[in-house]
Amino acid sequence: RLYNEVQDLKGNIRVFCRVRPLGVTGDSSAGCSEIGEEGELAVYNPRGGQRKLYKFDKVFGSDSSQEEVYEDTKALIRSVLDGYNVCIFAYGQTGSGKTHTMAGSNMEDYDGRGINYRALDDLFSINEQRRGEAEYSVRVQLLEIYNEQLRDLLDTSRSGKRLDIRNTERSGLNVPDAIQVDVGSREEVLHVMEIGARNRAVAETKMNERSSRSHSVLTVIVDGISHVTGQRTHGCLHLIDLAGSERVGKSEATGERLEEAKHINRSLSALGDVMAALAARDAKHVPFRNSKLTQLLQDSLCGQAKAMMFIHIAPEESSYGESVSTLGFGARVS
Ligand code: ADP
Ligand code: MG
Repeated sequence: RLYNEVQDLKGNIRVFCRVRPLGVTGDSSAGCSEIGEEGELAVYNPRGGQRKLYKFDKVFGSDSSQEEVYEDTKALIRSVLDGYNVCIFAYGQTGSGKTHTMAGSNMEDYDGRGINYRALDDLFSINEQRRGEAEYSVRVQLLEIYNEQLRDLLDTSRSGKRLDIRNTERSGLNVPDAIQVDVGSREEVLHVMEIGARNRAVAETKMNERSSRSHSVLTVIVDGISHVTGQRTHGCLHLIDLAGSERVGKSEATGERLEEAKHINRSLSALGDVMAALAARDAKHVPFRNSKLTQLLQDSLCGQAKAMMFIHIAPEESSYGESVSTLGFGARVS
């Protein structure tokens, strides 16, 4: 069964590249990337040497708006209503724009809102348009994976309950103790996101900059029923803001920081291995069990699944080395 399912996924993995504007993080070095035609991105070593050229499904330049990015993501997200499972990943070094793409940079202002909010907004709009014909219920779950441990960002009691993954047949339901909140309106979505952000901030003050060292997974579970045919659908959308992909040298990190870096390296390479195996249709060797993240998403990467990876580039020449490694990751999974 798995073989056919994995075959289905081939062609259903898309890799987009997004280059953030120069200098917004205070780095004043010059740029070292150039956008070519139709999905091409070139990077060059500021100290001379060869230009490297990469090709993706699409490259979004530094002037791309949140709306433009959503335009190209929308069709995939809407397929959740037809019972597809969809995973959207943001990959890249810290400061490259992952959170800008997923959560957005300014929630007060609609233009600043990212894919997470726009996706839910869009699902509600379609639900309204199809009223009478079909009905969808929407639930959200928000988890963080830090040092290979799952934490529930919607748990306001801060019980610190340990969460386990149990693989089930129904996607999005494999963390039995995770809180799932019904959302029926845009206001409720903003409220839930606020709780998540606040909960994340609490952990962050205890451990500086924790958000760049953990994966956050917003899961949207959509159950539908058609009033015309009576058919039921179950689809699941995972919106994943990955931990920063930068390499941490052994000399720079000790103790806790080194431990974090090892966990991040291991889980990002496990994700790369899974995506590469899926892209190559190597169904027998999809190594889902090598990290918590891939275990969590296993049900959603098999079957009626689609995946999109946004790889993020910080365009400053000081990031050249990291950009080459990020682009290599993107090329491997596409
Ligand atoms: P990451 O989550 O990868 O660490 P952020 O999303 O926090 O990076 O981005 C770092 C900074 O750059 C933030 O201040 C963010 O607002 C800004 N930024 C990122 N991408 C863009 C973009 N496409 N346009 C404008 N500002 C951006
Ligand atoms: Mg971030």
